[in-house]
Amino acid sequence: MSDRIHATPRPAESADFCAAAAHAATFHTTHVSRPIQPVATVAELRRLLDRPLPEIGSPADQIIRELVADVAPGLVAAGHPRFFGFVASGVTAASLQADWLTSVWDQNAQVYSLSPAAAVVEEVVSRWVLDLLNLPRSASVGFVTGGQMANFTALAVGRNTVLERAGWEVDGKGLSGAPPITVFVSECVHGTVLSALRLLGLGTTQIHRVAADAQGRMDLAALARGLREKAGQPLLLSLQAGNVNSGAFEPFAAIADLVRTENAWIHIDGAFGLWAAVAPDLSDLTRGMERADSWSTDGHKWLNVPCDSGLVILRDASAHRRLKLTRCAYAGDEAADHRDGSTWVPENSRRARAFVLYAVLREFGRQGLCDLVERCCRLARQFAVGVERIPGGRVLNDIALSQVLFAFPVEAGVDPDEHHRAIAAHLQAGGACWVGTTRWQGRIILRVSITNAFTRESDIATALAALGDAAQVRPFQA
Ligand SMILES: *Cc1c(COP(=O)(O)O)cnc(C)c1O
Repeated sequence: MSDRIHATPRPAESADFCAAAAHAATFHTTHVSRPIQPVATVAELRRLLDRPLPEIGSPADQIIRELVADVAPGLVAAGHPRFFGFVASGVTAASLQADWLTSVWDQNAQVYSLSPAAAVVEEVVSRWVLDLLNLPRSASVGFVTGGQMANFTALAVGRNTVLERAGWEVDGKGLSGAPPITVFVSECVHGTVLSALRLLGLGTTQIHRVAADAQGRMDLAALARGLREKAGQPLLLSLQAGNVNSGAFEPFAAIADLVRTENAWIHIDGAFGLWAAVAPDLSDLTRGMERADSWSTDGHKWLNVPCDSGLVILRDASAHRRLKLTRCAYAGDEAADHRDGSTWVPENSRRARAFVLYAVLREFGRQGLCDLVERCCRLARQFAVGVERIPGGRVLNDIALSQVLFAFPVEAGVDPDEHHRAIAAHLQAGGACWVGTTRWQGRIILRVSITNAFTRESDIATALAALGDAAQVRPFQA
């Protein structure tokens, strides 16, 4: 009898919210004291989680209780203030609550009529973001899952626009037989740009990887040579505001000058680096950024909101609007005086993720964001100074932003790549902080990225102490 009852899901009740809130509070309050890295092996996680597909349903409270217990050993504390891998962040109080409520409200931010509140919040956040980033106020903004989809959306509009200027209407004719496009990216381009290009039908032979300087910035002379070779062709350029390894910015103004007369589209991938625009101290980096045609950035990096949150920004709103010409029959006609969120993104039904951004931008304010960005950059410089105080420690990049690349010497006969992997593994296992490796100029080195709103000087000191010990390890001791 109970099986029949359990097979029928019920709507959530007040008690469920209290239970979930209690689990969440326990997680959150133990966050900093729990291991940063997962303690379970993949085999252990499968043993915990891999059940036979149930024939009958189970009660919600039992499922959630078991879920909380079973996933715990496999969770990564990427929001820990001493998690310095990837480009990670914490979650702020307002953004987290807004994120929960976004699920509770379950608004489909596809069209205005499905959620007028979500549509208006998207309008407001768009305006705030353009103001904060000092981008053209008439630009259009789409709310996507992250940098990958932001790059995809921007480059799709760019591809269509340069082909259209070359007399080829992609919407009607498709891509087969289209004039060739050349894409210029730095040899240090982020992988998501290459994935986006592939999804857009642009192959590796069309992608010109421009040599980069020691900081990972596109070499201007090399770009100028490439542009001369391809003059007259439709061109896409994807530049970086914040190299994911070094934090370096492409010289935007100089590049915009170089391509002035071409049928070219300039995109800037600024997943975290675009937010340098809020800090007057960093204006040297962002100069000329406003001259691009499109920009992409993330909320779930420097804005410290939960995954998934990305923004795509297009200078030409009418070109952006033409990305999606077909509306679903049941969606009704688009009205001139309000916003349909799905017009600006590849998705149709979609999470109303602008609520979270609305909350976090109110929580920081312009000044708070500026403090956050400047503090993270200061912490990166503190980390770099500390690395150079460790015997043999060598910082490999100029600390332009929030990223530190560094290396340690090895004894004869030891593979430097293995040495750095061993240091990272030692740090990760020790639990004081999480530092990863990356490939930089052909070598495996150590990398730190600091974009968490809750990281402080004392965290950097703790991490440096652990690094001082880890630098002593030898690969065979890892
Ligand atoms: C993180 C990152 C991306 C990808 O963003 P996702 O949100 O992970 O899709 C793209 N470019 C750069 C420079 C990044 O740092």
